[in-house]
Amino acid sequence: MELRKIVLIQPGREGKIFGKAPATPYTLMRLASLVPDDIDVEIWHHDWEPVEPKLRTLGKHDLVGITAKTLEIEQTEQFAAIARRAGVQTIVVGGSHATLMPEDVERWADVVVTGEAYRTWPKIIQDFINDTLQPRYDDTEWADLSGVAPLSDRVIKMTDERRRFWTPMMEITRGCPRNCSFCTAIRVSGQKMRFRPVEEIVEEIERRNIDRFFLTDDNFGLAFAIDPDYAEKLFLALEKLPLRGWTTQAEMMVAKYPELLKLAKRAHLDKLFIGFESVNPDNRRELGGKSKGQTKQYFEAIRDIQKHGLGVVGLFVFGFDSDTPKVMWDTWEFARAAGLDSLSTTVLTPYPGTPFRDQLVQENRLIPDKTWRYYDTAHVTYYPKMMSVEEFEREYDRVCRAIYSPLRIAQRGLRALSRHPLRRMPAKAFGSFSTDYGYRRTFAWRHAFSSQ
Ligand code: SF4
Repeated sequence: MELRKIVLIQPGREGKIFGKAPATPYTLMRLASLVPDDIDVEIWHHDWEPVEPKLRTLGKHDLVGITAKTLEIEQTEQFAAIARRAGVQTIVVGGSHATLMPEDVERWADVVVTGEAYRTWPKIIQDFINDTLQPRYDDTEWADLSGVAPLSDRVIKMTDERRRFWTPMMEITRGCPRNCSFCTAIRVSGQKMRFRPVEEIVEEIERRNIDRFFLTDDNFGLAFAIDPDYAEKLFLALEKLPLRGWTTQAEMMVAKYPELLKLAKRAHLDKLFIGFESVNPDNRRELGGKSKGQTKQYFEAIRDIQKHGLGVVGLFVFGFDSDTPKVMWDTWEFARAAGLDSLSTTVLTPYPGTPFRDQLVQENRLIPDKTWRYYDTAHVTYYPKMMSVEEFEREYDRVCRAIYSPLRIAQRGLRALSRHPLRRMPAKAFGSFSTDYGYRRTFAWRHAFSSQ
């Protein structure tokens, strides 16, 4: 079949914020880089520009690929329907939802891709051209991250990150050996932590000409324990780059590595998003061994990390089977006392493929009309054990209104900003408030659907 062009689509619901889309479509940038140079490829990001009108310009010689998280799968199905009406015959869907629940996507996608797709994507392109496409492509191995899908200059140019996106995304490690009952990471990225060669990271940053980034890594902090030599080599290399700052997810045991934290600060690391998850010690079984619900340890870890001039964003989840409404207010008290720079408080969400969802299915506790678009960590999608759905929603609203009030955001932002020397403050001002502002927007989605 003649291939006119490939269009890779990133769904989204945020739209532009102050003139830019929130984050670069990093996975699609890498997949687009695997497209041979003689084939036209475009990346469409729905947050940057609504894709529906553009879909209507496509036809049967175009190959459409869409990547989607669970939250985005209904929107993806709508995009597929529009493309099909326009004459497109091949809609390929991959991403975490297709990987975790392919049978849910097979109903309406022409081709379903599971796994990391670095090996299967080039084959899909060839099979399209040869008219030998299969309905399903499974990439079952975890790719060695060395040399995998380096960003091409063509893709870097077309993405135009600095002009169109607030946060450049970047990958250094992938996978997490923990097994938290609610997390999809080990099913999507594997339980073995993999590392990109330091030279490739430096080369990519320079070629993309970015001076700040957020890591897509599931739990970068584990590199401190699993391969401290790698972490040291990485930090020494990043120190030499003219970066304004970067941020990543981690767990609190990084506090036990003061030497690496010192190097991380010199490597321009700004803040760590630490998954404490819960202040309720009864939840320790669900937390995969990284966190035990014991606030005394949390206080010490936060103090030890901030001592190095690094910010700490606390990540917490509400709704475990031992949680009552009180845990939400205990979390807020804890966050204030501990001096967190920002905090994320989300509703536990039963994503496909997780032990938590399996348990809920067995106990018949999923709320039937809470479809995938409610899986945004701001909505209650199951029947909790120790509170009613209404009680959970009501208290969650109240505590989030307290946490994300403009006054509290300003207080936390100013405290985070004060950690920097005076001369660095202008450069750090945006980042000191943007994290909380982003979480306030996520929480606001709870009410965006309430009238529907
Ligand atoms: S430590 Fe974090 S990334 Fe790893 S399984 Fe738990 S929640 Fe997921």
